[in-house]
Amino acid sequence: MNANADPHEIQKFSDLAHRWWDPTSEFRPLHDINPLRLEWINARVPLHGRKAIDIGCGGGILAESMARKGADVTGIDLSEKALKVADLHSLEAGMNMRYELISAEDMAAREAGQYDVVTCMEMLEHVPDPAAIVRAAAALCKPGGRVFFSTLNRNPKSYLFAVIGAEYVLRLLPKGTHDYAKFVTPAELSQFVRQAGLQVDAVKGMTYNPFTKVYSLGSNTSVNYMIACTKPL
Ligand code: SAH
Repeated sequence: MNANADPHEIQKFSDLAHRWWDPTSEFRPLHDINPLRLEWINARVPLHGRKAIDIGCGGGILAESMARKGADVTGIDLSEKALKVADLHSLEAGMNMRYELISAEDMAAREAGQYDVVTCMEMLEHVPDPAAIVRAAAALCKPGGRVFFSTLNRNPKSYLFAVIGAEYVLRLLPKGTHDYAKFVTPAELSQFVRQAGLQVDAVKGMTYNPFTKVYSLGSNTSVNYMIACTKPL
């Protein structure tokens, strides 16, 4: 296994992978947020005809939806089971996808500068060295291309909502899904992004209303957030 991957984290996702496309499963939050993040990305860079790579694609929720927008999408992950689920789902859906078991760092060494759009969603908070993933994402991007990340902020509120609320109270996620210490603040992520030679274009918050069970995008980045970047020409 790649040095910058936590085998326990990969195992966690592999164990659940068969339920990836069940919108009532542990992956429900990913299904629920997907239209929001997809439209946010597509509004910043129309996906039609673009070459995109989704790092940590899992079962392919975002990757396949980007392909439906007309992008030519490669999905990479280190969970073989998740990739098998992704592949099978795309076959059943009649989508033409490329999925591969390879680390972001190895892919960056092989296919540097080849992608118009690079996405890495809900993965940085599961990785030992998120800055190295950000560097790999930047390397994969063409000059003038766009890079998108999403992760969990780190503060008392995100601990309360993303760990206690989601795992213990609402039971949206299995206990142990998230390790608070690995959460990344927008300031930290912005620093990784700039150190990787990318420029930060926008930061967007994603909030969950437990009463209406609706997610929405806005300026509140205290728990879930996304960041959009450009690789300068
Ligand atoms: N990005 C997808 C899935 C998020 S779940 C989505 O938002 O819909 C997190 C995924 O990251 C899992 O599929 C897990 O296997 C993967 N992952 C965790 N650490 C990784 C690493 N170091 N390299 C590649 N993938 C990793």
